Amino acid sequence: MKNIGKNLYLGIDIGASNTKFIIISGKNIKTFEKFHLSTPHNKRKLVDFIVAQIKSLEIKYRTKFAGVGVAFAGIINSSGTTILHSPNIRELDNFPLLRKLSVALDRRYILNNDANVFAFAEALAGAAKGVSRVAGITLGTGMGGGLVVNQVLEKGAHGGSAEIGHTIINPGGIKCSCGGWGHFEEHLSARAIRRHGVKTQEELAQRAGAGNKKAKAGFADMVAYLGYALANIVNFWDPEIIVIGGGIAEDADLLLKKAAQAAKKDIVSPEARAALKVKKAKLGEYAGAMGAALLAIKK
Ligand SMILES: [Zn+2]
Repeated sequence: MKNIGKNLYLGIDIGASNTKFIIISGKNIKTFEKFHLSTPHNKRKLVDFIVAQIKSLEIKYRTKFAGVGVAFAGIINSSGTTILHSPNIRELDNFPLLRKLSVALDRRYILNNDANVFAFAEALAGAAKGVSRVAGITLGTGMGGGLVVNQVLEKGAHGGSAEIGHTIINPGGIKCSCGGWGHFEEHLSARAIRRHGVKTQEELAQRAGAGNKKAKAGFADMVAYLGYALANIVNFWDPEIIVIGGGIAEDADLLLKKAAQAAKKDIVSPEARAALKVKKAKLGEYAGAMGAALLAIKK
């Protein structure tokens, strides 16, 4: 491959089963390559795996990445260096990933929460491109959130902002993956869908549409809780747009539409209620990896 310059950025989205990689140019956010590989569930193997990928991609592209952005599904510390809590890969709790990567291979790294960088990518290059006040929600294994103002990611004072999935909607309700009780995530994640007796949101919607009683109740539950989440976000933060992504949102047009309708009754500002805009994410399953790369560019 010919030398295509030194302005390339690598985005890495570490998920419980797969790790996604994307290479973009810093100039015009052009995507050069994207692929995914199985995630090693071991600290040392994970670092070795990431470093090996960086090295082999740099050889392939005859360049040194100008920045490497890493997205992770978990709680990251405020300085963006350490995974504090990893709900899906428990071995990575309190793991100083960036320090370990820097020791193994000296590059300019950034680390952020996967839902935060998802919102960042959608605000810069996706469904909310050009919008100044963007809230993002991811619905998948868990439920995450991200806030972006004027193309700047809101990181929060301690790195813990926009955790909509772990806000309390039903005190004393179902136990959440984080250890708390009655959080949104238990009503709007893959676990919630499995509790309704199906594997996917699409299957739930289809069965509900065909009149299956359990599926109808399950689908109505998801519509109601997503509606509450949207209304809560609008009442607390008043975004111009809410972008919804993650695996569950992919074939969820009906769910999104019904939830947006349901949210209106709970939005307190008449102006915000009339202007409510809920959009499906545009960048697909590589949004997190792209957001991480974009954050490395902006750093
Ligand atoms: Zn929780």
